[in-house]
Amino acid sequence: MANTVIKVTTDTIEKMEAHYASVKTAKTPQGAVFSAKVNGCTITAYKSGKVLFQGTRGEEEALKWETHSEPAKKHVIASTKKASIGFQPPANISSLSIIGSDEVGTGDFFGPMTVVAAYVKNEQIPLLQELGVRDSKNLKDPQIIEIAKDLIQTIPYSLLVLHNEKYNELQHKGMSQGKMKALLHNQAINHLLSKITPEKPDGLLIDQFVDPAIYFKHLQGKNVVRENIYFSTKAEGIHLAVAAASIIARYSFVKEFERLSEIAGVTLPKGAGAQVDIAAAKIIQKRGSQFLASISKKHFANTDKALRLAKK
Ligand code: MG
Repeated sequence: MANTVIKVTTDTIEKMEAHYASVKTAKTPQGAVFSAKVNGCTITAYKSGKVLFQGTRGEEEALKWETHSEPAKKHVIASTKKASIGFQPPANISSLSIIGSDEVGTGDFFGPMTVVAAYVKNEQIPLLQELGVRDSKNLKDPQIIEIAKDLIQTIPYSLLVLHNEKYNELQHKGMSQGKMKALLHNQAINHLLSKITPEKPDGLLIDQFVDPAIYFKHLQGKNVVRENIYFSTKAEGIHLAVAAASIIARYSFVKEFERLSEIAGVTLPKGAGAQVDIAAAKIIQKRGSQFLASISKKHFANTDKALRLAKK
């Protein structure tokens, strides 16, 4: 079971305490400001600003507050950490033919989650470099779109879009975002493997979003690809296949975002910050909260904030 720890300001701790007021536990551990229990998750906030989320839905509950947290300090501690040994990419990975996978949109209130698996043969690496494929964190959206348009004509890939209605339905049934990601990564990889058959990649590289042991746990009962599978954080910098997957996923996300903006009649803001709350409140006033849910990830804290703003 994973514990998720986020670091927030005292201001946010106060907000959290108010938010969980009805589910607070009578006893609090030493050094804690409050503890609460909700939806199979125990939340403990400490005076240091650290907030610990324990339980199967801990990761998901923490996500609601993620926008308040200090990103550099945020980390996920998995009790099964040792299991990731054996899944590190080999030293020569950059010269291999690899299927890479990555996802986009998990931290954005509006819009879907997109997951892409992309296959890059070692002899294509110079061509991809020529096309400008690199870590998309160093690229702006217009550049990503240009590169993606070439890329989708050049390499085999599989794209999955988890639209908001389906996302909200799965979330409502109790599925964590981590599990959704695991299912989609595995599905995209399976699609792509059958697309390129009889060719086989030298390996698979997943941009790591969870400990590999938890990844496989999420996929119990599914047709899971395990052979030569590697996990790494910042995998975009390790093999261009992941960078390519990330660029195509971002391209698809941006296109979906534009489509939703058109439906909503306003330019939707990305992310999950204060501008998002304001835009969401306006949408509630004009079109109602059900419409808002159809274009957003409903369980984010933005929904409640927008509902409050809309009443003012
Ligand atoms: Mg990623």
